[in-house]
Formats: sequence, structure tokens, C-alpha cells
Amino acid sequence: MTIRQDLAIGLDLGGTKILAALISRDGETVSEIENETSKQSKEEVTNSIFHTINRLLENAKVDRKRIKGIGIASAGIIDSKQKVIKFASNLGLENYPIGALLECHYELPVQLCNDANASAIAEWIWGAGKGKENLIYITVSTGVGAGIISNGSLVTGTSDSAGEFGHTSIMHQGIRCECGNRGCLEKYTSGTAIVNTAYQRLLTGEESSLQKWIFDGTTITNKHIAVAASEGDAFSINLLQEVGRILGTGVNNLIHLFNTEVIVFGGGVMNMSSFILPAIKETVRQYGIFHMVKDVAIEKTILGKRGGVMGASGLFFTNESTKEDATTNLKILSHEK
Ligand SMILES: [Zn+2]
Repeated sequence: MTIRQDLAIGLDLGGTKILAALISRDGETVSEIENETSKQSKEEVTNSIFHTINRLLENAKVDRKRIKGIGIASAGIIDSKQKVIKFASNLGLENYPIGALLECHYELPVQLCNDANASAIAEWIWGAGKGKENLIYITVSTGVGAGIISNGSLVTGTSDSAGEFGHTSIMHQGIRCECGNRGCLEKYTSGTAIVNTAYQRLLTGEESSLQKWIFDGTTITNKHIAVAASEGDAFSINLLQEVGRILGTGVNNLIHLFNTEVIVFGGGVMNMSSFILPAIKETVRQYGIFHMVKDVAIEKTILGKRGGVMGASGLFFTNESTKEDATTNLKILSHEK
């Protein structure tokens, strides 16, 4: 017998793509649509979103009464209470009332969170942090950010800005960051920072197999560094291990602050996790307060890029409303506040 599941729409609003999925309470994807993001104007963004959700609903052919709401994961600065994207440079949006627009059009409840928080929620409900009360998701991509679940609640802060892990300093006189601080973690560990460091070192004459691409006139990216490292290039391996040690220093700060149980890493840079993750773990083991770090699981995401869209729908599977359904999955009930 098939158990009837509640469903929610998850929408991952990115600078180049909109990913929408209809996801069940047990994490099954009923239907999924990906579209390019039109960002010439607010109206075009709105049309892209409506078009994507409409297609999703047409494809899914489910009873609308089963859909609990629309959850949105967005980059940028958001106001989750007002359901407004305050500023998202990659989408060209400012004070964009996405919640009101969607609630009015679809007559469904809408929830909004930032993309790192969405991924944290997805890991909490369905991924590496399932059944845990204390979990931190860290994304290492062009920037570095975190979504923090502490004592069974998502930590948002006063203005939805909690989790700016990339802008915590690990060096008080370090590299100047655009945020105004010095020594921000992401200036040493983001995808952009890894490439910058590689170029700086190559310019000083350090030897690396990366030079064959530079001689060809190719612009080095993290993909080249990943290939070089996997082929045994000591320069690239050392660079990635150093990134791991710096991330490990930051992770120790998080564990010491939040006494967390699980740290999950995602983001494009984690495609090189075989070089980075062991160095993170070693640094945590070596320098963390023993009784706090000894049982912390440090893992790579198993949900990958789908964490954003899944966590967006998961906003409807973490609150009191889940109690009304007798078929509620007990493991997910344990996440209720
Ligand atoms: Zn900064």
C-alpha cells in the first residue's frame, strides 16, 4: 500500500538557473524542472519563476490539496519574516517581494530562506544530519557560508544574517576582505581564493604541472587544479591540503561555539574533497578541544546540488503543521521545535 505523502514545492533561485521540485515528506522527488533565470528585469524574473512552477505542476499532475506550500532558497540578503529578497546581486533584485507575489498567484503559503540555510535544512531532514539536533552545513564555493541548526532550530539571527562563516576572521592582520574585515576565512579557502593563491605562487616560480596550461594561454580554474592534484602534482595537493587546514581551523571555531554533532560540507570546491577533507579532519582532531571534537562527524554532502531545492521544500516539513498528518515520519517529527 502506498502511504499518501504531503508534498511541498521547493524553488532554488540561482543567478543562472531556477530549479523547482515537488518533494514529498520522505524526500522523494515527484517532479522536477530546471529553467534558465531571465534577469533583465524584476518582471522577467517573476515570469521565469511562474513559468517554472506552472510547468512543474503540469508535469506532476497531483491533487493541489496535497501541496503544503512553496519554499524558496535564494542567494543574497533576505528577510525571511517579510518574505522579501532585500538584495541579490546575481539576480539583479532589490526589495523583491517574492513571498507576496507567489502567495497571491498560487494561493499557497510561502517560506523563504537563504541557500546555505536551505541546504542545512535538507541535510537535517534527509541527509547526513538526519535525527541530529546540532548540525552545521558549510558551503565552499565562490564564497564560503554556513547554515546552522542548533538545539533543533535553524539559527537565523536578528536580520537573517547568521552563518556568515566565510567572513569570520582567522587572521587579524590578514588579507583585506570586501566586507571590511581582515583575514576572512573565504579569502583563503573559496574557489576564487584557491585560484588566486595558485597564480601568486606560480608567479614566484614554484614548479607545478599547472604551468603547461599557463604556457598554452589557458586560464587556470579549480578544475585544472583538481586534475593536477589527482595526477599527483605536489604543488596542487599541498595547496588543497593547506585550504583544508585553514577550513579546519574555522570548523574548530564552530565546534567550540556550537558544540555541534555533524559538519556537512558542500559547494563546488568540495569536488576536490579527497584532498581537502582529510586535512580538515586532521586539523580538527589535532587542535580542537578533545571532548568536543572527538565524536563530531565531518562529511561531504550526499544531497549535493539538490540540497537547496530539497531544503526549500523542507521548510514545510520542520514545523508544527506536520503533526496534523497521521502518516508523519517519526524521524522527521523529531525535528519539530
Ligand atoms: Zn569578509
